[in-house]
Amino acid sequence: MLRGVARLNGVEAIAAFLDAPHVKLASQLAGFCDSTLAQRPEPANDDDARREARTLLRVIGDAGWYGAIATGDLRALCLAREKIAAASPLADAVLALQALGGTPFVLAGTDAQRARWLDAIVAGRVMTAFAMTEPEAGSDVAAMQTRARPDGSGWVLEGEKHLISNAGIADLYLVFAVTTPGAGSRGISLFAVPGDADGVVFEGPQVLAAPHPLGRIRLEACHVPGDALLGERDAGFKLGMMTLDRVRPSVGAAACGMAARALVETLQHASTRHQFGEPLASFQLVREKIGRMATELEAARLLVYRAAWEKDHGEARITLEAAMAKSFATEAAQQVIDEAIQVAGGRGVLVGHPVERLYRAVRALRIYEGATEIQRLIIAGELLKEA
Ligand SMILES: Cc1cc2nc3c(=O)[nH]c(=O)nc-3n(C[C@H](O)[C@H](O)[C@H](O)COP(=O)(O)OP(=O)(O)OC[C@H]3O[C@@H](n4cnc5c(N)ncnc54)[C@H](O)[C@@H]3O)c2cc1C
Repeated sequence: MLRGVARLNGVEAIAAFLDAPHVKLASQLAGFCDSTLAQRPEPANDDDARREARTLLRVIGDAGWYGAIATGDLRALCLAREKIAAASPLADAVLALQALGGTPFVLAGTDAQRARWLDAIVAGRVMTAFAMTEPEAGSDVAAMQTRARPDGSGWVLEGEKHLISNAGIADLYLVFAVTTPGAGSRGISLFAVPGDADGVVFEGPQVLAAPHPLGRIRLEACHVPGDALLGERDAGFKLGMMTLDRVRPSVGAAACGMAARALVETLQHASTRHQFGEPLASFQLVREKIGRMATELEAARLLVYRAAWEKDHGEARITLEAAMAKSFATEAAQQVIDEAIQVAGGRGVLVGHPVERLYRAVRALRIYEGATEIQRLIIAGELLKEA
């Protein structure tokens, strides 16, 4: 049985949910993160983060880590996000958005749509954005106001999206828009809109505490051809939710990666920092924190890989498992990283300290792709359906 840092960084604790190729993949990912990602400095500002995201898009693509998006191997995607998020939360965001942008093509793309976009997404040559949220439609996605009306053989899109990752730097926007007004979630469709299409206007960045390109876009008389429609007309909400269900456990995986990194920092710091003539690790109050952090992290990883295992073994819907994994792992990671700062003391809140960087990075995971409260509503809804 592995112990110490090796247990936190290894796959032994989740081995029951993995196949032999996953174990090999995890070790290759660790090598890539050490040799390539760990050396890259944190961008100093939003402009730098945008440039760095574009560079990372290719670096990750060249290494082949987007492959799991096309194969649908969710455990491989979770391993990639876990390892990459521990080394670079920005690189993880780039990977996450390729997964969100690529999955609708896997689920509902025509051969022509896949040939045009999916290979390039997986190669890291086309950066995607998943444009669902609007100023008045956050958790309540079906309240969106962006409209798409038929125009000849194509469509014209009008509306505004905000809090969109990769806004302003994406090559392709997956835009959700109302095609049957008044029909709620049954009247929304999904469109693949090239970033350089006439009428796609970048309205400016929304700057996050951690490096992460985020911003607003406006669609202004934006004309797209008929084959921009992804999936059936009015089935976009369902396609969006199926995409989120699939990708959601990987948000939990990213949270686990960040938490594991924080816990490694804690073990090292507590072992080497002396106060009152003793290492911090000799104090019971510190040991209690370490015990709790490690247990929360391991429970989170088990939920994440259990959800991914279910999907990889043919479960058609993992709505319940994905919601449990995402909400538990992101909440647990926030707690673990907060405690890591506590053990680091004043050094832990200095800008640029590893746990300070993780603290800024992990916060958004409890909000995006469905906030924790919404995940708990989903869990209750699934259970009450059975009742
Ligand atoms: C870093 C980051 C990246 C993002 N990237 C993207 C992206 O690429 N594409 C995209 O489309 N969106 C993206 N988002 C938006 C994200 O999905 C939304 O922020 C999220 O869905 C919540 O919506 P909101 O911010 O409007 O909050 P609101 O919906 O206003 O919710 C505010 C609070 O109220 C709670 N709440 C809402 N309804 C209920 C309810 N019924 N019961 C109990 N509590 C409730 C929520 O849980 C939350 O705590 C991103 C957000 C962030 C922070």
